[in-house]
Amino acid sequence: MERLQEKIINEGRVLSPSVIKVDSFLNHQIDPILMKEIGEEFARLFADDGITKVLTLESSGIAPAQMTALSLGVPVIFARKRKSLTLRDHLYTSKVHSFTKQEINEISVSKDYLSSEDRVLILDDFLANGQAAKGLIDLVEQAGASVAGLAIVIEKGFQEGGQLLRRQGIRVESLATITSLVNDTITFKKEEAP
Ligand code: 5GP
Repeated sequence: MERLQEKIINEGRVLSPSVIKVDSFLNHQIDPILMKEIGEEFARLFADDGITKVLTLESSGIAPAQMTALSLGVPVIFARKRKSLTLRDHLYTSKVHSFTKQEINEISVSKDYLSSEDRVLILDDFLANGQAAKGLIDLVEQAGASVAGLAIVIEKGFQEGGQLLRRQGIRVESLATITSLVNDTITFKKEEAP
């Protein structure tokens, strides 16, 4: 997605050869017009997959997931990273190692909102080593629901998550794939011709 790539080049800050900061439009301040375009693109890619729910992880996945769910006409669920007072039992839970925070989070979703009838599109802001995606897939499988695929805003293609998930036969659609962040230079995978 060209506009997303431009935004990453113009506003992204390379923090290290493996981490990029995009706080100005995705992870802190949010660009709603870009989120709308992202949502429409994911909705187009998964239009024929019978999606009934979009599932993401709080907090940075919520904005693009919300716009995708709006375009698909289905609800969005965000898995919580902490158990809240109102959400303690009756949960599907999974453990996720956070790439950016280097800690283990227990993620959870209420059993009220995922069932074996659901066909779920999993969405996240970044794909690095695939731990967040694996945890979300685990929640969907615990519910007996099916995974339609993975919608990723920014994939870091030099980390193993994308390859691992695709090898498992999971459809992964990324709107921008970064192949390198070495020397403070952002390099993208070339988009395939339509
Ligand atoms: P994974 O679980 O695939 O290793 O990492 C994905 C999660 O880590 C995403 O939910 C995202 O929040 C965070 N993440 C991974 N790499 C980056 C990065 O380079 N920049 C930012 N801002 N977040 C990242």
